[in-house]
Amino acid sequence: MITKTVDVAIIGAGSAGLNARREVEKAGGSWVLIESGDYGTTCARVGCMPSKLLIAAADAAHQIVEAEIFGINAKQVTIDDQAVLSRVRNERKRFVGFVVEDTEALPKEHRLIGRARFTGPTTLQVDNHTRVESNSIVIATGSSPVIPAPYDKIREHILINDDVFMLESLPKNIAVIGTGIIGLELGMALDRLGVDVALIGRSNKIGPFTDPAVQWSVADILGSRLDFRLSTTVDQADVVPGGIALGWNDANGNRQAQTFEKVLVAAGRRPNIFDMNLEAAGVQLGNGTVLDWNPQTTQIGGLPVFLAGDASGHRLLLHEASDEGRIAGSNGMAYPNVLSHVRRTPLAIAFTDPQMAVFGKTYAELDPTATAIGEINYANQGRARVMGQNAGLVRLYADRQCCRLIGGEMFGPRVEHTAHLMAWATQQQMAIPEILKMPFYHPVIEEGIRTALRDLTEKLKVTGDCRCEDLAEAPGT
Ligand SMILES: Cc1cc2nc3c(=O)[nH]c(=O)nc-3n(C[C@H](O)[C@H](O)[C@H](O)COP(=O)(O)OP(=O)(O)OC[C@H]3O[C@@H](n4cnc5c(N)ncnc54)[C@H](O)[C@@H]3O)c2cc1C
Repeated sequence: MITKTVDVAIIGAGSAGLNARREVEKAGGSWVLIESGDYGTTCARVGCMPSKLLIAAADAAHQIVEAEIFGINAKQVTIDDQAVLSRVRNERKRFVGFVVEDTEALPKEHRLIGRARFTGPTTLQVDNHTRVESNSIVIATGSSPVIPAPYDKIREHILINDDVFMLESLPKNIAVIGTGIIGLELGMALDRLGVDVALIGRSNKIGPFTDPAVQWSVADILGSRLDFRLSTTVDQADVVPGGIALGWNDANGNRQAQTFEKVLVAAGRRPNIFDMNLEAAGVQLGNGTVLDWNPQTTQIGGLPVFLAGDASGHRLLLHEASDEGRIAGSNGMAYPNVLSHVRRTPLAIAFTDPQMAVFGKTYAELDPTATAIGEINYANQGRARVMGQNAGLVRLYADRQCCRLIGGEMFGPRVEHTAHLMAWATQQQMAIPEILKMPFYHPVIEEGIRTALRDLTEKLKVTGDCRCEDLAEAPGT
């Protein structure tokens, strides 16, 4: 057994861990980076990038089919599924290759391959070959798909997101279990690539939204385009000739059964923190996550242990993992003089069609008495109609006190872009009249956002610039 002594030990060479390492090095510290799986990060290997590659192919196919509304008939569209999947794999290989190359360029003596387990607050054991002693430890171990019953017993027969990108050909039909962002993105892409997709959800919720009006719009628009089986709890999954037979009771209590060639389980993700003997470090676990974790410092309690990225269970997104990695790395070095970092305005996007985005405060987090809501229904928005993408509802939230934009739930054309503008305005603490002073070109999707902002102005009964510190200009009720 070798012993390594360093300033900061980092567990996990994903996006969070790599960013943590960079901060430690910047501060002149010594480090080890411990990885139990393949280099390349979840985002590049089985997450953000390959899913967007699949969606890009699906969107290309869809645009050809949809061209009919413009009077353009492209007859006999054929999808070469093997070519589609081959491009996904090749491009993915390219993205992963860059990360692997960078990671393998790090000095070998600082990289440990193996599974890390805590033996104390500042000591780790990596497999059976290395003992690590450090001043502090960064846990950046990512997350894994939750495989609920009854799929757990047939684990080797079901697909998770990782497996989709390894397929050589597409199935004729598939059941996608889960109607969250991952299930929707992959389910919708497969549907557009000619797979017969059933999207099965335990609740009646589709996507990330908490605003009932937006949820209704999603159910209305996507419900007519995709085969959803909502409020459906599958309690039986058996491997049968030709696929997997699922069984469930429908909303009327009638027994239903259907056999699918493939089943993709996208029922949420769980932090990878449960088999690391965290108890030895004095870390307490509860509600599927670490207790007493501070998102501004990434520190767990007062311990020399920092938690970053998906492993925190906080916001399972790439940019959040990178930020948390940076905070954890710099605080790991600075321990015990840990600093609080201001976090960015939350922003999450789903690459569905229409796209989905949530920024700032969600509807569920609002104080209804202190909030005004403005909205735009994209059904009749000029540019959206021009493009034949006139569907969706965007709701923006402002606080009545300072008439500042505080959040929104967005379902509509190209909200991946407009959500950025809104998140930036929220982080800049811009009041609604200030945002409306910005230039808006014509005809663009952003004009729809202006409609929602104007709606907010009316609801707020705003006069003047409506700055919070200027009481004479404060809005009425
Ligand atoms: C299908 C899909 C699509 C996604 N799309 C998007 C998107 O469009 N935009 C977006 O922002 N986010 C997206 N995400 C989320 C994003 O990929 C993650 O938030 C991000 O990759 C998390 O990075 P991380 O560093 O926390 O974890 P990872 O990159 O998973 O790194 C964790 C590493 O720790 C290692 N490890 C685990 N346990 C141990 C141990 N005990 N010892 C040593 N090593 C260990 C693992 O092998 C892994 O390499 C998507 C995710 C999925 C699954």
